[in-house]
Amino acid sequence: MIIFKTIPELRHYLSSRKEAGLSVGFVPTMGALHKGHISLIHKSKEDGCFTVCSIFVNPAQFNDPSDFEKYPSTLPEDISLLESAGCDVLFLPSKEEMYPQGMEAAPSYHFGRLEEVLEGAMRPGHFAGVGKVMSLLLRIVEPDALYMGSKDYQQCLVVQDLCRQMGLKDRIRFIACPTSREPDGLAMSSRNLRLSESQRARAGIIYQCLVSLQSKFDSGADFGIVQKECLELLQAKGFETEYVSIADAATLEPMTQFDPNRKTVALIAAKIGAIRLIDNLNLN
Ligand code: AMP
Repeated sequence: MIIFKTIPELRHYLSSRKEAGLSVGFVPTMGALHKGHISLIHKSKEDGCFTVCSIFVNPAQFNDPSDFEKYPSTLPEDISLLESAGCDVLFLPSKEEMYPQGMEAAPSYHFGRLEEVLEGAMRPGHFAGVGKVMSLLLRIVEPDALYMGSKDYQQCLVVQDLCRQMGLKDRIRFIACPTSREPDGLAMSSRNLRLSESQRARAGIIYQCLVSLQSKFDSGADFGIVQKECLELLQAKGFETEYVSIADAATLEPMTQFDPNRKTVALIAAKIGAIRLIDNLNLN
């Protein structure tokens, strides 16, 4: 694996690979890599792509400064995981490399209602920051395929909309990869590293709530009642819940009733101590 820290060197190398006829698969990350991230690398490799991973903890997408400061960094381990997975290139830019004129000067994109609901409501400015960094990364890497995790469901919708706004929708194949989970169902996340042993032991409840929502979906159960059960379960385990939502899978507009005829996703965000976890499950 070759590591690049500057944009011109990366672009020069990638253009030679593209001229050689290779298809470029791109996996953007913020590091502290786990098996979930690596599953995206594997998918890109399985698809026959020359695979580029980026690690950049993007300050523009953190609405909570302490979350940014405490964001875990495990670079030596990340490099060896990427090498074992057969990743071809790691792009490791500094903040100055990505934002030479400051973050404000980077391009701004807006995503309408998509950036106002759920994560957008709880983390003001978050998706504007995702839009900034992803627009820069897509212009730098110019991938043929973009691999992102369904774990961040709303982010997948936002980035697909970004590709459309950038006129790249037909040039980049967007691949939403399934969520990798721990044996108790907890979605793998870099933030899990910050959970204490006791918090970790309770964190599987988020997935249990999602499965319970899924199991009630077809039965026509009252969503309000099922939602209340989830809120109580999460509270009993010491979680402060930000949302338990069932929403239209394309727009994320909240639904108040289960409707088996509409593509629907259940999404949860909850905090245990200072650590905020999110997860989701398709209901049909
Ligand atoms: P992050 O480093 O958290 O920005 O994540 C980088 C990419 O990995 C994003 O596309 C995430 O959705 C994806 N990802 C994070 N956790 C998982 C997981 N448990 N399973 C699959 N993909 C994941």
